[in-house]
Amino acid sequence: MSNTGLVWFRNNLRCQDNISLHKAIAENEKVLAIYFFDPRHYDNDRFGFKKTEKYRAKFLLETVTALKLNLEKLNIPLFVYQQYPEDVMPQFFEGRNISNVYTQKEWTKEETDVSEAAKNSIDRYGVTWHEDFDQFLFHPEDIPFDIQNIPQVFTNFRKKCEKYVSVRPQITIEKLPESNRVENTTELPIVLDLGFEDFAEDSRTAFPFCGGENEALKRIEAYFWDTKKLSYYKKTRNGLIGKDYSSKLSAWLANGSISARTIYHEIKKYEQQVTKNDSTYWLIFELIWRDFFKYISLKHGNHIFRIGGILQKDYGWKTDEEMLDQWINAETSEPFVNANMLEIKYTGWMSNRGRQNVASFFAKEQELDWRIGAAYFESMLIDYDVHSNYGNWLYVAGVGNDPRDRKFNIKSQAERYDPQQKYQNLWLQSKLF
Ligand SMILES: Cc1cc2nc3c(=O)[nH]c(=O)nc-3n(C[C@H](O)[C@H](O)[C@H](O)COP(=O)(O)OP(=O)(O)OC[C@H]3O[C@@H](n4cnc5c(N)ncnc54)[C@H](O)[C@@H]3O)c2cc1C
Repeated sequence: MSNTGLVWFRNNLRCQDNISLHKAIAENEKVLAIYFFDPRHYDNDRFGFKKTEKYRAKFLLETVTALKLNLEKLNIPLFVYQQYPEDVMPQFFEGRNISNVYTQKEWTKEETDVSEAAKNSIDRYGVTWHEDFDQFLFHPEDIPFDIQNIPQVFTNFRKKCEKYVSVRPQITIEKLPESNRVENTTELPIVLDLGFEDFAEDSRTAFPFCGGENEALKRIEAYFWDTKKLSYYKKTRNGLIGKDYSSKLSAWLANGSISARTIYHEIKKYEQQVTKNDSTYWLIFELIWRDFFKYISLKHGNHIFRIGGILQKDYGWKTDEEMLDQWINAETSEPFVNANMLEIKYTGWMSNRGRQNVASFFAKEQELDWRIGAAYFESMLIDYDVHSNYGNWLYVAGVGNDPRDRKFNIKSQAERYDPQQKYQNLWLQSKLF
């Protein structure tokens, strides 16, 4: 019987530039793929929020639909289950002669618990398990630091990486012959199956995009090549309204439907063919921030989820339910905070400027337990990414990597970034209806 490799897709939901997929194709005669809508991701968390709200659930469904179609073009079947991996895998392996499993390497606790449970469930099959880091811009094997010596300050990390690391080239993926196809009767769930009512998109959304690798590539095409907005990114990136003030690539990056490497190489191509300026560099700079938070979480492990953060600093946080409800329901004393909180509530999106302000208000002004704010973001955000979310919350709350421990002056931020209150009117007027 032939050698079969199984690719377990998690937050690497793409066919292009995917190490696990590449290795599976190179090292096996047959390749199968599997994805789980893990019920744990749709449960309530310890603060009572749904771990995944409807916006990200819908985006993910679109993403997996696209993945299935793209894999079909490579003659690879994607089996999809709405069950725990460890419950499905033992039967799935029966009679399939799978000798290798390939998946993206994760390190945060919830993810590694699932990996361990899955691995244990198929113990008796004696398969070889291959896990590869595939979510970084700078590969962990290439950076000029041991993980334990990752600098606490971003600039020190960035400067050394920029000097010593080359971003790896994209990996090409080979197509398998038609004989690789096998019967696959599994079907994708719909939003209702994941516990949500179908819903219409809010016409004011700044993120009017769908999930999936093809949509991510379309966004790059539009933002870089068609409109050349990339050339102005540094000037517009603090914007609040509309789809083009920033790249909006975060949601595809978060679930891995595009790789940071692909974006980087596309920026480099743009720099050669169109223009190279502060803006093109700044998008790379932001991708390095993304990497930095991944490395911080790799270095500090579960401390990123603890109240004292990586500084293990005690601030005496509050857990006032009324203040929490006011924040969530846009009833605070700050109109700028309220407008942003309505945006996330109605769309699952908020700009970077908005996120910084509402998080600072929550943690530094109201001194509420920052982990509750982070958990609300985790629930609501289309682009939720464990490292970026918790890393930024730690940073804003003063228990992370900001040596200055700042507090935003919300009123002056609103005056500076929304001088004519266009943004505030866009969201706050809806409260009148
Ligand atoms: C409290 C708080 C929570 C956040 N939670 C998340 C999250 O869950 N997921 C997430 O992807 N980003 C998060 N961010 C970072 C940032 O707000 C978003 O990445 C950005 O707004 C996404 O929009 P964009 O893709 O248009 O970004 P652009 O401005 O176009 O930037 C390009 C890419 O760089 C990365 N990037 C930019 N800023 C940051 C940053 N501060 N930290 C890490 N990466 C960054 C993102 O991958 C982004 O897609 C958070 C920021 C704050 C202050």
